[in-house]
Amino acid sequence: MSFSELGLSASLLQTVKDMGYVEPTAIQTQAIPVILAGRDVMGGAQTGTGKTAAFALPIIESLSANPCQPKRVRALVLTPTRELAQQVHKSFVDYAVASDLVVEIAYGGVSLNPQISALKKGADILVATPGRLLDLLFKGAVSLDDLVHLVFDEADRMLDMGFMVDIKRILKRVPEQRQTLLFSATFDKAILELSKTLLNNPELIEVAQRNAAAASVEQIIYNVDAHKKRELVSFMIGSKNWQQVLIFVRTKVGADALVKEMCKDGIKAQSIHGDKSQGARDKALADFKAGKTRALVATDVAARGLDIEQLNYVINYELPYIAEDYIHRIGRTGRAGNSGLAVSLMSVDENWLLEEIEAIVDERIPQAWYPGYEPDLNIVASNNKNSKSSQKRRAKQRGFSNNSGKGKSGASRGRGKPQR
Ligand code: AMP
Repeated sequence: MSFSELGLSASLLQTVKDMGYVEPTAIQTQAIPVILAGRDVMGGAQTGTGKTAAFALPIIESLSANPCQPKRVRALVLTPTRELAQQVHKSFVDYAVASDLVVEIAYGGVSLNPQISALKKGADILVATPGRLLDLLFKGAVSLDDLVHLVFDEADRMLDMGFMVDIKRILKRVPEQRQTLLFSATFDKAILELSKTLLNNPELIEVAQRNAAAASVEQIIYNVDAHKKRELVSFMIGSKNWQQVLIFVRTKVGADALVKEMCKDGIKAQSIHGDKSQGARDKALADFKAGKTRALVATDVAARGLDIEQLNYVINYELPYIAEDYIHRIGRTGRAGNSGLAVSLMSVDENWLLEEIEAIVDERIPQAWYPGYEPDLNIVASNNKNSKSSQKRRAKQRGFSNNSGKGKSGASRGRGKPQR
């Protein structure tokens, strides 16, 4: 299948060619004709599959075929995070380069006034996070009365982040008659419920098996004692001469602490998390992309939406409490057809988290010992006294819930020494 068979105009075909895209990805092949035909879509696509172009190209096609003056917001893309908003906004700007469509962006954490001024000048397409969009709607800085295309990008994460109330408020302000596109890397009951209220007879398009990890990513788990993880991370990056590594941790404090230690080990690292100003986050990402820092240490929420081309290595310093986050994390590598390596450092107290992860990815992830960092078997034995259920209970008491658990893992635990 080539781009020219999808129903896009000559000018958009030239744009994608100029961007170096040779052929459409699976989600693009399936979604573009359906969206051009005006249908609602429920898209199951992982990060890195080219899903942004899958909805951006047909929207640009449709809006430029029906120009409107003065400019009114006719397409709205809602994203869970600022970083994803920035990335989607940039993609729209790139894809709309040959049109006279105006693309604007609105997200929180920065001053409202520049966004109000920009919107006053008129925009055709708005990419926004839900909270900031509501602020702008309440202030009368933007109207959605003329909206034709409404997109929910990474809808699963929007629900995880508690945006349901905001979404309902926004929906009251958009026309009933519209095209709605919902994209999600994972599907669970909450997403299916949301889709029923939002979508009208949608076409279901799935390009990867539900909740499956990206096939181009090689995964490995190293069993290591918790107190050895920090040393192992620096050793691994240094000895293997990895130049660009995204590292996931669970907490903001943990991110900063790890950065400090890695810098002491001589590995240039920066953190990216919700307590950092937008400017600091942008700088950390820019430095990482430019190769000024070798390691970017991120929390799950902050990492959502980061698009770093040709990222080869992801390290899970800790396994995530929410199993679906594992899929999002490793989806940061192996993007757009490149292969990637996702390394997870697992201490013995994290075994139960792996069960949840393997249940949703529906595969058994290989485990090994890293030479020189083999786990202390005395710690392993004493930890076995702590049952899985009591660990789960403690995590719940700390306020974490793992809402996956939809399938049963075929894998059995309590393994012996893994293969090296
Ligand atoms: P996305 O899944 O939308 O975040 O896209 C991931 C990456 O794939 C981005 O860097 C896009 O520029 C790139 N991309 C999207 N479509 C194509 C295509 N048809 N061919 C090559 N790269 C693409």
